[in-house]
Amino acid sequence: MTVRVRFAPSPTGPLHIGGVRTALYNYLFAKQHQGAFILRIEDTDQTRFVPGAEEYIREALAWCGIPPDEGVEQGGEYTPYRQSERKDIYQQYAQQLLDGGFAYYAFDTSDELNEMRERLQAEGKNPQYDAASRMTMKNSLSLSEEEIKEHINSGVPYVIRVRTPEDEDIQLADLVRGNVTVHSSTLDDKVLLKSDGLPTYHLANVVDDHLMKITHVIRGEEWLPSAPLHVLLYHYLGWEENMPEFAHLPLLMNPDGKGKLSKRSGDRFGFPVYPFDWENPQSDEVSPGFREGGYLPEATVNFLALLGWHPGDDEELFSLEELVTAFSLERVNKAGAKFDIEKAKWFNQQYLKEMSDAALAEHLLKDLSDNGLESNQEKAEQVCGLMKERVTFPQEIWSTAQYFYQPPKQYDEKMVRKKWKPEASDALLAYAEALEGSEEKLSAENAKQQLQQVLEDRQIGLGKVMPALRLALTGQGGGPDLMSTMEVLGRQEVISRIRQAVMSLAVN
Ligand code: GLU
Repeated sequence: MTVRVRFAPSPTGPLHIGGVRTALYNYLFAKQHQGAFILRIEDTDQTRFVPGAEEYIREALAWCGIPPDEGVEQGGEYTPYRQSERKDIYQQYAQQLLDGGFAYYAFDTSDELNEMRERLQAEGKNPQYDAASRMTMKNSLSLSEEEIKEHINSGVPYVIRVRTPEDEDIQLADLVRGNVTVHSSTLDDKVLLKSDGLPTYHLANVVDDHLMKITHVIRGEEWLPSAPLHVLLYHYLGWEENMPEFAHLPLLMNPDGKGKLSKRSGDRFGFPVYPFDWENPQSDEVSPGFREGGYLPEATVNFLALLGWHPGDDEELFSLEELVTAFSLERVNKAGAKFDIEKAKWFNQQYLKEMSDAALAEHLLKDLSDNGLESNQEKAEQVCGLMKERVTFPQEIWSTAQYFYQPPKQYDEKMVRKKWKPEASDALLAYAEALEGSEEKLSAENAKQQLQQVLEDRQIGLGKVMPALRLALTGQGGGPDLMSTMEVLGRQEVISRIRQAVMSLAVN
C-alpha cells in the first residue's frame, strides 16, 4: 500500500497556524512512508470564498518547505484538485446514495426548518433533522410518490440529505484517539447536496478521499464530530474496504490553557496566529504573520512539530529531515497543545544563530536600504556575525545595533550617570590620540593593545574605562565584543565618536 495523505483546507480566509501544523504532520507522515502529500482545495462553499486565500495557503506550504506532491499547482493523476472544478463528480454519488435508499430528497423551506427546531425544543427533544423527526417533515420518505414527482417537476427547490440509521453504533478506530463509538441517534440527517446542486463538505470530502485513494485522513480535532458521518458514507457507498484510517490532531490552545487558539487570542496575547501577514479584504485590517515577525521557516516548522507531538526523549531541535524520520502518529498527544510563543522565540534564536552571516546580512541590507542607508556586504556580514548570538529576530540586528551605521544620537542616561567619570573621559581622549597616531587598519587586536598601553600609562583599570568607551561608541550599556565592534567601525569613526562623546557628556 502506498501512503497517500491530503491537506484539504477551505480557502475561506488566511490559513491559521494550526492548519499549517496539520499540513506539516501530513507531510511528515507521507515522507516517512515514501508516500504522497496532496493539497486539495475544498472550495464548494462559494459564499465563504475569500480571494487570495488559496494563494496564501500554497505560499505558506512553500515557505515551510513542505510542498505538495500533487495538487492544484503540481497537478497529478487525480486532477482537478480544486473541488469547485469537480462539481459533476459529486452528483453521481448523491444519486447512488438515493438509489440505495441511503439518502433522500428534502423540500423543506427555511421557515419550516425553523418551526421544526422550535417545536422540538419546546418538546424537550433534540432539535435536529434526524431519524426521529424526519417523518414529520417534507421529504421523499414522508411524501407519496406522486407528491414527490409533483414537487420535483414543478421546480420546488430541494436538498439531498443522508439517511442516518435509527439505532446503530458507529465505530471508528482513530490513530490518535483510539476507538471512538458514536450512537447513530446523535447524528442528524446532514445535507449532502445543496439546492444549487453543489455538494456540502461531507459528501465532497468523502468522495474525493476515496477517488484520490487517500489512505490516512490526518486533520484537526474539530472534524472528529463529522467522522462518524464520514464512516457511515463509506459504508453506504460500498467503500468500507478502502476506508482511510483517521487521525484527529489535538487542538491548539491559548497559552493560559483556556479556549482554542484563535485570531482573537493573537490580538489579546499579542502574537501572530498566521504564517504571513494577512490583510482582510473587507476591513483592511492586517493580522500579523510569523514570517513578517521575523520567525524563520525552519524554526516555525520545528516549533509546530512539537505542538502536539512528543519525540519520546528530550531532544527539541529537529530539522525537517530529522522530523520525517522521528515523527509518529502514535506519539501525537490527545490533549490540546498549549501555544507558547516564548518557545517559538527560543526556537527562532537557535536557528538564527546557526544562520550564515551572509544569509543574515540579506535581512540587514534590506533594513538598511529601507532606512535610506547603504552598506557593503562585507560590513553587513561582520555586523551580523557579532550580533547573531544576541538577538531573536533578524530585524533586531538593525533595531539594536544601528550604531554600526550611525553615531549614537543619545547616550543611555543611567549608564552615563554610573560610568561616565572624568578619569574615564580623560583616558578615552588619550586613547583617541593614541589611535590617531597610527595608520594601520584598526583590528580588535591592535585596538586592544593600544588601549592597554594607554591605561597602563595612566594607571587606570580596564573596568573603569570599558563601559565609558562602549557608551561613547554605541550609546548603550551592553552589546557584542567591544574590540570587534571597533574593528567594524574603523579607526576614524572610533576617534570621532570618542571625541564627540567627550564633548557632549562634558557637562555631567
Ligand atoms: N475542508 C476542511 C477544512 O477546511 C477539511 C477537513 C478535513 O481535512 O477533512 O479543514
